[in-house]
Amino acid sequence: MANIVVVGAGVSGLTTALLLSKNPAYKVTIIAKHMPGDYDIEYTSPWAGANYLPVAPEAGNRWEKSTWPELARLAKDVPEAGIHFQDTISYARQKDADSATGQWTKELMSTNPWFKNVVPDFRVLSKSQLLPSSDSGTAFTSVCINTAIYLPYLAGQCLKNGAVIRREILTHISEAASLHHSRAKADVIVNCTGLLASKLGGVMDKDVVPVRGQIVVVRNDPGFMVATSGTDDGEDEICYIMQRAAGGGTVLGGTYQKGNWESQPDPNQALRIMKRAVEICPALTGGKGIEALSIIRHGVGLRPVRLSGVRIAKEKIGGTWVVHNYGHGGWGYQGSYGCSEGVVELVREVLTPKAKL
Ligand SMILES: Cc1cc2nc3c(=O)[nH]c(=O)nc-3n(C[C@H](O)[C@H](O)[C@H](O)COP(=O)(O)OP(=O)(O)OC[C@H]3O[C@@H](n4cnc5c(N)ncnc54)[C@H](O)[C@@H]3O)c2cc1C
Repeated sequence: MANIVVVGAGVSGLTTALLLSKNPAYKVTIIAKHMPGDYDIEYTSPWAGANYLPVAPEAGNRWEKSTWPELARLAKDVPEAGIHFQDTISYARQKDADSATGQWTKELMSTNPWFKNVVPDFRVLSKSQLLPSSDSGTAFTSVCINTAIYLPYLAGQCLKNGAVIRREILTHISEAASLHHSRAKADVIVNCTGLLASKLGGVMDKDVVPVRGQIVVVRNDPGFMVATSGTDDGEDEICYIMQRAAGGGTVLGGTYQKGNWESQPDPNQALRIMKRAVEICPALTGGKGIEALSIIRHGVGLRPVRLSGVRIAKEKIGGTWVVHNYGHGGWGYQGSYGCSEGVVELVREVLTPKAKL
């Protein structure tokens, strides 16, 4: 029997806790400052679209590639998870190649990406199917997750497996060792603290930075998803549309602003986001312009980007094993099962006593 404390109740913490809690030999406690249902600038997961638009290069595709089958299974067989299949179109412009958004979406915008054999119905658009402003484009079947349903769904699955969920605020990662629900010392701590890994004692990872994403959530129904490589409104502005499952609204984005911690929506940016969305997809308002958008809310989320790449790793801190799972940037959902499987492997490793030679 092993006592495990997972710190974090975003998509990374909950997915990891779910996989760990499937093993009857693991007793899992989830502790977090923010929980499903909260909206806070320190808590990224509720703000996400969230869809599956791979961005990792082929060499680093393990996490995203191995996540697709489970998201597809949930979309197909588990309606209560709040995930549905959606057609998606990506439009690329050559002039975005060196911009922040162009670099971020490089693999997604490729006409020959590694994921062409992973997602269904991948196809390259013909010239007549492109926007006048785009140089190439692709389409495929993706999924879109209603985060307001999916995060509570994950928490519910963890509870069903016997995990215990508690609110706690840590100032140092080692404090988690004494917060297992059994009151015994934790054998392993799993660190899924997202952006706050940059501020948490014992971790203080200065490589983790916010990449600000402003969004507008509307009631209008586009019928499909759209992503672009960039816009003419600045090299950190982008245009995307994602329609969430089960009445979750449609997310219009967005921005990709590195190092920007601003939590408040900028009204001018919001206007540009809505204008671009209606321009690229007039069907959103039946050709009636942005005045016909019905706004649910404006929002800002901070993507937890780790400049040197996601951290799935183990280390001993204060005498307790810590397995890290943070720094997922803009792909935390679409890499969630892959990363969590990586954590399960590391947890198994640290709990398996080394054979003496
Ligand atoms: C606008 C926007 C759109 C996005 N769209 C997509 C998309 O379409 N697809 C996709 O895959 N990804 C998308 N993302 C990215 C995705 O949202 C993130 O990668 C993901 O949510 C990160 O999850 P996380 O669990 O690592 O962090 P978080 O969700 O931030 O969770 C961190 C958890 O750790 C807890 N915590 C932190 N520090 C402490 C502490 N000291 N004590 C106690 N608890 C602590 C917090 O309370 C919280 O529970 C998007 C992001 C944004 C902003």
